[in-house]
Amino acid sequence: MEPLGKYDFVETCYPKSVEETVNFFVRAAIARRQPFRLCKSCGRYFAVRHGGVEYCNRQYQDTGKTCREIGSVKPLQKRTADSPAMRLYNTAYKTRFARIRYGKITREEFGQWSTTAREFRDAVVGRMTIDEFETWLKR
Ligand SMILES: [Zn+2]
Repeated sequence: MEPLGKYDFVETCYPKSVEETVNFFVRAAIARRQPFRLCKSCGRYFAVRHGGVEYCNRQYQDTGKTCREIGSVKPLQKRTADSPAMRLYNTAYKTRFARIRYGKITREEFGQWSTTAREFRDAVVGRMTIDEFETWLKR
C-alpha cells in the first residue's frame, strides 16, 4: 500500500515477474468485484463492464474487427449451416447444378434459381416454414 494524496491509499505493484503482475490485476479485479467472462469468440477472459456482453473487444484473428463486432454474426452463420433448410438447399443445389451439365437448364437460369433459393433458405428461419421451402425446392 502506498499513500495517494492525504487520506487515501492505493494498492501499488512493482512486479518482478509475470505472475506477480497477473496476481495483482486479478486481486484488484476481485477487490472491485469486477466480473469476468469467457469470450464466446476467441475463448479468452475479459472484464465485463455491463451485463449481457458475451464478446470481448480484442481484435478477432486478422479480420480487422473485434470479437464483439463479428460476434453477433457468427452464431447465425453457424445456425444456418446446421439447419434442415441448409441441408435441403445443398441437396437441391447439387441436383440443379448437374442439370446445367445435361443441358436441361442454362447457367443464367441456375443463377436466378440459386439466388431465390438462398433468399428462401434464409427466410425459413423467419417467415417461411421448412415444409413450404421443401415444396418450393421440389417444383
Ligand atoms: Zn474475444
